[in-house]
Amino acid sequence: MTNDTANTDKATQETVLDVRRWTDNLLSFTTTRPPGYRFIAGQFARLGLLADECMVWRAYSMTSAPKEDHLEFYSIVVPGGLFTTVLRDLQPGAKIWVEKQCFGFMTMDRFTGGEDFWMFATGTGIGPYISILRDAEAWTRFRRMIVVHGVRHASEFAYHDELRALAQRPPVDAPSPATLQVIGAVSRDKDAASAKGYLEGRITTLLEDGSLEKAAGIAMTPEASRIMMCGNPAMIEDMRRILHAREMRPVRRAIPGQFLTENYW
Ligand SMILES: Cc1cc2nc3c(=O)[nH]c(=O)nc-3n(C[C@H](O)[C@H](O)[C@H](O)COP(=O)(O)OP(=O)(O)OC[C@H]3O[C@@H](n4cnc5c(N)ncnc54)[C@H](O)[C@@H]3O)c2cc1C
Repeated sequence: MTNDTANTDKATQETVLDVRRWTDNLLSFTTTRPPGYRFIAGQFARLGLLADECMVWRAYSMTSAPKEDHLEFYSIVVPGGLFTTVLRDLQPGAKIWVEKQCFGFMTMDRFTGGEDFWMFATGTGIGPYISILRDAEAWTRFRRMIVVHGVRHASEFAYHDELRALAQRPPVDAPSPATLQVIGAVSRDKDAASAKGYLEGRITTLLEDGSLEKAAGIAMTPEASRIMMCGNPAMIEDMRRILHAREMRPVRRAIPGQFLTENYW
């Protein structure tokens, strides 16, 4: 996270094509894609905007698939946040800087073995999974895929219609692609939980008390499960503790493991 002008020679200026506002403080936007720009689903870009005449850079997961001809990002608006206060008013035609190099190790190629792919997210941490699931690879690599998305209110379930559509019609031409289950959990919306069939509570609590695996209809085991976690650092810390107690370990450079993580702050 930096506020400087030095990075502009490492970046290209792109044009915002489209803005979708999900709620007052959640938006997705697409931009032109720099020529030759390459990334793997699950990676992030560093984006630059001018705030008070100063360049501000922030990391953003790509939600677009590598094959798409534009880039797409999904963002929260943090009250008083330097970058997202400017982003909040983004309109098509606006200019935004995209660093030429993309980053991140939360990519599927780092897993070995396993047949169930669990994707845990809080809030905007769903972003990398949208890219991964718009891409064909995960659908042939795993047998079952489960997205677990925790939000405060049901209105924050961005992208769920698309995920449900992908579950019905996977983006791959293969004889028996993976199944996809989408489990939403709301922590401050009891009515939506009971009316719309979401789980209620924090996803870490739901994992600990068994209700998450019950809803998925499968158990998380070191042999079968490969897991990504993205978003709130407190969720990731709690998940690490729970998974460690279940004999699961992070994937390291040369050591296979069960899980990969990405903290958003
Ligand atoms: C690898 C990486 C990938 C990221 N990808 C995304 C992404 O795809 N979408 C996205 O919205 N953000 C993402 N972030 C966070 C993003 O870089 C900014 O921190 C965020 O947009 C706020 O910037 P700001 O300058 O407005 O607020 P700042 O002044 O930087 O305020 C930061 C504070 O806002 C809160 N915060 C930051 N990000 C979030 C968030 N996503 N959800 C809830 N609270 C948050 C935290 O309390 C944090 O301390 C990512 C961060 C990292 C490190």
